[in-house]
Amino acid sequence: MTVMWDPRLMTGRAPDGPGLLRNFVAGEFVDSGRRFTKASPVTGDPVFEVVEADASCVDDAVTAARSALRGPWGRMGERERAEVLRRVADELERRFDDLVTAEVADTGKSISQARTLDIPRGAANFRAFAEIVASAPTESFTTVTPTGGRALNYAVRKPVGVVAVIVPWNLPLLLLTWKVAPALACGNAVVVKPSEETPASATLLAEVMAAAGVPAGVFNLVHGFGPDSAGEHLTRHPGVDAITFTGESATGSAIMRAAADGVKAVSFELGGKNAGLVFADADLDAAVAGSVRSSFTNGGQVCLCTERIYVQRPVFEEFTARLAKRAGELAYGWPIDEATATMPLISHGHRTKVLGHYDVARAEGAQVLAGGGTPRFGDARDGGAYVQPTVLTGLSPDARTNREEIFGPVVHVAAFDDEEEAYALANGTEYGLAATVWTRDVGRAHRAGVRLDAGIVWVNTWFLRDLRTPFGGVKASGIGREGGIHSLDFYSELTNVCVDLA
Ligand code: NAD
Repeated sequence: MTVMWDPRLMTGRAPDGPGLLRNFVAGEFVDSGRRFTKASPVTGDPVFEVVEADASCVDDAVTAARSALRGPWGRMGERERAEVLRRVADELERRFDDLVTAEVADTGKSISQARTLDIPRGAANFRAFAEIVASAPTESFTTVTPTGGRALNYAVRKPVGVVAVIVPWNLPLLLLTWKVAPALACGNAVVVKPSEETPASATLLAEVMAAAGVPAGVFNLVHGFGPDSAGEHLTRHPGVDAITFTGESATGSAIMRAAADGVKAVSFELGGKNAGLVFADADLDAAVAGSVRSSFTNGGQVCLCTERIYVQRPVFEEFTARLAKRAGELAYGWPIDEATATMPLISHGHRTKVLGHYDVARAEGAQVLAGGGTPRFGDARDGGAYVQPTVLTGLSPDARTNREEIFGPVVHVAAFDDEEEAYALANGTEYGLAATVWTRDVGRAHRAGVRLDAGIVWVNTWFLRDLRTPFGGVKASGIGREGGIHSLDFYSELTNVCVDLA
């Protein structure tokens, strides 16, 4: 049985019972045995049954990918591959409503966010990399030979081979296509493993690939968990040449250990404990509105979300009061209501973890300025995984609340006096993914970009991305950069050819 993408799934109910999501190997949907249940974050009810890929299914997927590289896919030029990517984008746009349903059913995010961010970015990723690969620069050099002649050197870009793509649950289609699009643009074949929490849009992406004419075996999908399941089978498979991973830093370490056997290339986009710096000269309206977005978008479940805000003392009281007020006013609602501004956490397990952090903050002596608990609805959403958007203050920089990634709708606010102190506070973390600076001082805006230990520094904005720019983190937030030409560098190998012209 295939799943019908009934819009009622978005209210956390499967009207005809949970539909079945299967693995996709060598161009066919396959059922390899064991199943697990995916529950709605909105109601806690089962919405999908998912086939877990066992070791032999993963092996079939890797074998299919390797043999696809020897077929017509392996002989295509960049422009032909770019054309395939554009057809994938067209097909994603044609299946737009189904993808919105799938993404909202899996995550409980608002339909307006899925329509304006998650699903459009899926298609945009394929269009962007179709262009980037078709216009990628080449390099050539001439060298004087020992006999006084000339030799020509030029670099040939080749696929890496079979790429394992392992992604988390917070922005499922966006993060998956961010890696699949450049991998295919460079001529690789992929085996993707979405999070066990978000199997639906990845399954639809397999349908999209088939409908867009992507040759069988170029895109394979395996469902399951990490350790001792599809994720580990994939990272340990000797037929995998490179692993691109987005998720927690601790998982990155485990995958790196698995990748050591076989010396597989890795690209890691990991966790964060991102700081926002609000200077006294900032446009305070913009800083408050921007900080509400950066702290609470997607229920705070974006790796780029701000969990620590440092505010210059003259505006600390006003900023903090306004932020707390706005947090308390964020609208609850069903995901299908356009006005809904909050969403549940992905699962009850994650809610337990986030509420545990709220308790730790209280035990550490935090003042709770907004939220701090769970909302009550008096309807089916009481079975969901909701927590209140929360604003905390009063803790020292070395409190656990200020050191550990919480990955929920929570932010701690503290004061600073001068610019040096602000950089020291922002940089005082093991992570280094993103930072946001609110100031009208042009010199400081540029200085912050140099002084902050982060892969991305936003000034007077947040979450604005040009897909040609480098993306990634420093310290425990990642290894490598993806985006634009940087993605091509990870998803391809360069062979230098040296020809004696004598
Ligand atoms: P996670 O690390 O628990 O899981 C991510 C993926 O890895 C899932 O598909 C999971 O099944 C798989 N996995 C887990 N253990 C594995 C193992 N041993 N071997 C192979 N695969 C394994 O992360 P999550 O909870 O799904 O996502 C939240 C985390 O992701 C947060 O830390 C967040 O900051 C991070 N994140 C980072 C970025 C970024 O771009 N830097 C973007 C989004 C999310």
